[in-house]
Amino acid sequence: MVKKVISNNQEKMEKIVALCKRKGFIFPACEIYGGFANAYSYGPYGVELKNNIKKLWWHKFIDSREDMVGLDGPILLHPKLWEASGHLDGFNDAMIDCKECKMRYRADNLISEVLGIDLEGKLAEMTKVIQEQIKCPNCGKKKWTEARYFNMMFKTEMNGIEGPVYLRPETAGAIFVDFKNVIDSCRVRIPFGIGQIGKAFRNEIVARNFIFRIREFEQMEIEYFISPETNWEPLFNEWLELQEEFALELGARREDLRRYEHSKEKLSHYSRKTIDIEYNFPFGFAELFGLAHRGDFDLSQHQKFSGQDLQYLDHTTGKKYLPHVLEPTFGVDRCVLLALSAAYSEEDLADGEKRVVLKFPVKIAPIKAAVFPLLKNKSELVVKAKEIFDDLKDEIKCEFDDNGNIGKRYRRQDEIGTPYCITVDFDTLQNNDVTVRDRDTMRQERIKIPELKHWLIDKLK
Ligand code: ATP
Repeated sequence: MVKKVISNNQEKMEKIVALCKRKGFIFPACEIYGGFANAYSYGPYGVELKNNIKKLWWHKFIDSREDMVGLDGPILLHPKLWEASGHLDGFNDAMIDCKECKMRYRADNLISEVLGIDLEGKLAEMTKVIQEQIKCPNCGKKKWTEARYFNMMFKTEMNGIEGPVYLRPETAGAIFVDFKNVIDSCRVRIPFGIGQIGKAFRNEIVARNFIFRIREFEQMEIEYFISPETNWEPLFNEWLELQEEFALELGARREDLRRYEHSKEKLSHYSRKTIDIEYNFPFGFAELFGLAHRGDFDLSQHQKFSGQDLQYLDHTTGKKYLPHVLEPTFGVDRCVLLALSAAYSEEDLADGEKRVVLKFPVKIAPIKAAVFPLLKNKSELVVKAKEIFDDLKDEIKCEFDDNGNIGKRYRRQDEIGTPYCITVDFDTLQNNDVTVRDRDTMRQERIKIPELKHWLIDKLK
């Protein structure tokens, strides 16, 4: 299959970006200083959404499995690690500059977007194809430099350490260097996996498509250790399906997911198989997650560079060996973008109005319920609504809102994706019940106050 990023719904993307800023999901970072490097901050609702996605992942892949454990390693790791892993020599992207307008592009992306072909890793061919066939998308000229490689790791310095130290470009490295500590300290038996969530840093040539490609991002990565003698293909397929299942849990539709298998010539020398799971973002299909069989490359490299024995002892057979590894990897920010893209919808209502609604799956919705007194100036309604809010807020992420008319409050909660709105009205005072309005169907039902919390908890499961 040809990997092509097609621009198909720029307008939807612009609406999502605008909504994210207007409603406090995601802001351009350092805006008061004119912005900085296409970086973004997660605002109050964005951080809730992101945390819910991370919690869902941790639960699915760590907490609910007996064969998985977690880890939280440092961002600044021993520089030797990056020598051993090959990042110092090989973590490069190809860039090319327009001599006319000075715009810089990532060469393989430029080619795949304009021509729909994948030349990643073939520097000379990339230069030739761009120089001959592609005009600068910015100024329309064909005045290119040669394509050249650029190492994507950020360098820094550390007191007491000679030479540069690097911000990790992926979280996986920390897992491999702590492999021995985990097997020595926990009762794990192969097959088992170590999962980690954390920041990674890449000096991307061009940061773009909102939070899809940024220079400081978060990953959720797993190294799943298996015996070299295991029939790995069924396990590989299982992981692939679990990764897709996770995307569906974030709200993706099955038809918006596809698999892109790396061809033999593009595959790293140590990998038996690598598949990207792509999602149909508003700007087209692009990598969401990856899954790679990495053999014993990482552990054998670290064994060689550290001089330490990193073999696993199989207690039943008495055999020692270096495990092979399957690596399912997930980008947190790309999950957030998926969740926003899948949830965003515009609807025409019966009364002629329009509504924008984020139809998040309930588990990841930033706010689960909003509590309203029907009228702000009727203290008996306000007191009752506050009472209900106080009773719910410890267990359910809630908001209290008495601002504007009920219609406006519904629209506000729709736009941030709150699944349930609870209104206290005059009947409440008589009947001890409230109106609960469902975000997606907009249907309302009366629920008795003593049953409300359990009713909600049940719905939010
Ligand atoms: P791409 O081809 O898009 O550059 P990659 O193949 O280099 O991605 P991996 O090294 O496999 O990505 O990283 C694992 C995951 O981390 C990706 O599947 C993606 O979800 C996420 N990721 C990688 N680079 C970025 C980035 N610059 N911004 C946001 N997320 C990223």
